[in-house]
Amino acid sequence: MNQDRIDAIAGSLLAGAIGDCLGAATEFKSYDTITRVFGPNGLTEIHPPGRFTDDTQMTLFTAVGVITALLDHGRPTSKEWTKAFHEAYLEWLRTQEIRMPLGDKSGSWLLGESTLYRREAPGMTCLSALRSGEAGNLEDRINDSKGCGGVMRSAPVGLLLADTHTKEEIYEVSCLSAAVTHGHDGGIYPAGALSVMVVDLMNGESVATAVKNLTGLIPKDLEDRLREAVSYATSQPIEPWSLCDELGQGWVGDEALAIAVACAVGGSDLEDSLLIAINHDGDTDSTGAICGNLLGAKLGVSAIPQRFLDAAPQVPLVAQVAADCSVFLRGEATLEFAARYGR
Ligand SMILES: [Mg+2]
Repeated sequence: MNQDRIDAIAGSLLAGAIGDCLGAATEFKSYDTITRVFGPNGLTEIHPPGRFTDDTQMTLFTAVGVITALLDHGRPTSKEWTKAFHEAYLEWLRTQEIRMPLGDKSGSWLLGESTLYRREAPGMTCLSALRSGEAGNLEDRINDSKGCGGVMRSAPVGLLLADTHTKEEIYEVSCLSAAVTHGHDGGIYPAGALSVMVVDLMNGESVATAVKNLTGLIPKDLEDRLREAVSYATSQPIEPWSLCDELGQGWVGDEALAIAVACAVGGSDLEDSLLIAINHDGDTDSTGAICGNLLGAKLGVSAIPQRFLDAAPQVPLVAQVAADCSVFLRGEATLEFAARYGR
């Protein structure tokens, strides 16, 4: 695996985490409130304590799900993928239900990370679906939720499978990861779309081209929505009020991905895109996270402003997951590595 791939994986995970950390301070605030609290330009720095939220927490556990599925099966079946993601998200649920690591060696090393044991406005759909003990899949839907909790955590599927799986396979695996907790098409297919787009971006394509390349793979209504997002972002400067008027607020999966795409296309660089994505009326931590996942995969770690990385205390944890992804993809997973994933 070449250096570009390693940089793209770290870039996508870290920029996603930074978008999430930025948006953590603006989620649940209207644009009017954001500008009143943070000034006329909105929030432009990571606001202390600078922790990431459930979006990044769950993204890290998606990486665990992919790695454990591949450690266990090499070429997992759909059922095996669902089981691996379900187990990984149940680990996340444990971090939400208890206060401190229990020193349990059966799960992944993330269960020993005390900073994950925090509720940072977790999505109710994820909590309730996981508490049920059941895992949804594409045939047996678990509920009717089209929330953005599936897409916001799906980037690692593309990052980890880019070189070994077809886009069709990546799309299906990613949809399976979302379907564990989300049962509506609108909660599932955007996850698949993001994972496939991430692959194109790692390969140097533009966001607009990555959207075009989804034709025939994703449902027509989702494709239309993403194309609208690109054309909106290329036809006028993005303003927070028109962004949500045009594309929705991002609480549901397709809207969150559309807003993130528009911000990724319309911003002048990664910082500009993230700051648009986290200063609007909608679900800013998720749109910031997804926008970061997209652009980070294309631009790598060096595109992320150092001041953001310095202000987010959990950056080393995200970097460690990215490093693990690289070790695994290089085929350097030792017994010790497998043991860190409870294998
Ligand atoms: Mg969140």
